[in-house]
Amino acid sequence: MSFDIERIREQFPILQRTVGGKRLIYLDNTATSQTPALVVDNITSLYEHTKANVHRGVHTLSQEATDLQEQTRRKVKDYINAESIEEVIFTRGTTEGINLVASSFGDRFRDGDEIILTVMEHHANIVPWQLLQRHKDIKLRVVDVNDKGELDLEQYKSYFNDRTVLATFTHVSNVLGTVNPVKEMICIAHEHGVPAMVDGAQASPHLKIDVKDLDCDFYAFSSHKMYGPTGVGVLYGRRSLLESMPPYQGGGEMIKHVSFKGTTFADLPFKFEAGTPDFIDIAAFSKALDFLNETGLDSIRTHEEELLRYTTHGLLEIPGIKIYGEAPEKAAVISFNVGDVHNYDIGLLLDKLGVAVRTGHHCAQPLMERFGIPGTVRASFAAYNTQEEADIFIAALRRVAAMF
Ligand code: PMP
Repeated sequence: MSFDIERIREQFPILQRTVGGKRLIYLDNTATSQTPALVVDNITSLYEHTKANVHRGVHTLSQEATDLQEQTRRKVKDYINAESIEEVIFTRGTTEGINLVASSFGDRFRDGDEIILTVMEHHANIVPWQLLQRHKDIKLRVVDVNDKGELDLEQYKSYFNDRTVLATFTHVSNVLGTVNPVKEMICIAHEHGVPAMVDGAQASPHLKIDVKDLDCDFYAFSSHKMYGPTGVGVLYGRRSLLESMPPYQGGGEMIKHVSFKGTTFADLPFKFEAGTPDFIDIAAFSKALDFLNETGLDSIRTHEEELLRYTTHGLLEIPGIKIYGEAPEKAAVISFNVGDVHNYDIGLLLDKLGVAVRTGHHCAQPLMERFGIPGTVRASFAAYNTQEEADIFIAALRRVAAMF
């Protein structure tokens, strides 16, 4: 299918709005992407016609709501090529998925055990492991990056030993854009008999995810970065591991039978889905997957790569600019600073020109420390961004840079 950018843009009502009298140019897609009308309308329709709690009722609405939620589960299973729907757990997002694994899989860790992660992790893949350290004397071994933003794979390999219990790493860096060689990293972990978890928050909107091909043990991602609703995420887990893990939270839905003598837990995936899920947004997430499938991830990736190349080239002509993240395998994320101008000032001025970018440490403070900076400005692209928007962004930044 050819990539019809106008046809894609038409589907996103928010792109019509203005900011400070200027047409919105939304380049904060790494934080969250915008949502097509298909998804928004579906949410409205679900509230208007099908709202009922799932898995609890015999009445028609409840049955329909349950069917819609489980339809999304099946669609996610196909989308990521999981073996079965039991391996697809709905969460609130990537953060909750990782916390689930830290708490529930981490339950088996012992004092002296070691977890390998990387310096480019989002705080969501650092802090849950640090929280475990409050109760267990666990060591975190942190793989460094080179100045281009590529992981030091030799160091990664050297960290495995007989106390290693998990390797966990991001598929794509939310700051550098680096696409990590996760398949190879998973394979190395498995050679040492160690399970591997992938933080897929930044990969899932851009890359085809095939958990079977990757052979990962856990893979977490968020709907809101994939043109879907907020409040929904997915944790993929290898069935044998999920079965061997205790529940994460207790409550309704996750039990077989409750008694004060002892409680038994529901089968997968419900064992990990305590309480009322965000069933409306889960159901509507299915439409975001339709959007991704219909637009085609390959086409989206090609389009974003062109924007990345074009914009990087344009930005590099601005005096004093420094771009962080120069890995050859890179998603369409550009982090930069201009001279010693504060990233916040640049972000504010760009906003006045209608350009939305993110500023700050991007929830990756250890990475900022590695590069010796407090933060960056970050522009990130999605399927609906255009070369014309890139031109306006580059011109706006040139104006801003000239002010300092
Ligand atoms: N990991 C990475 C790499 C991210 O970019 C993000 C979101 N910025 C997260 C995890 C957390 O995702 P969420 O806030 O949707 O849970």
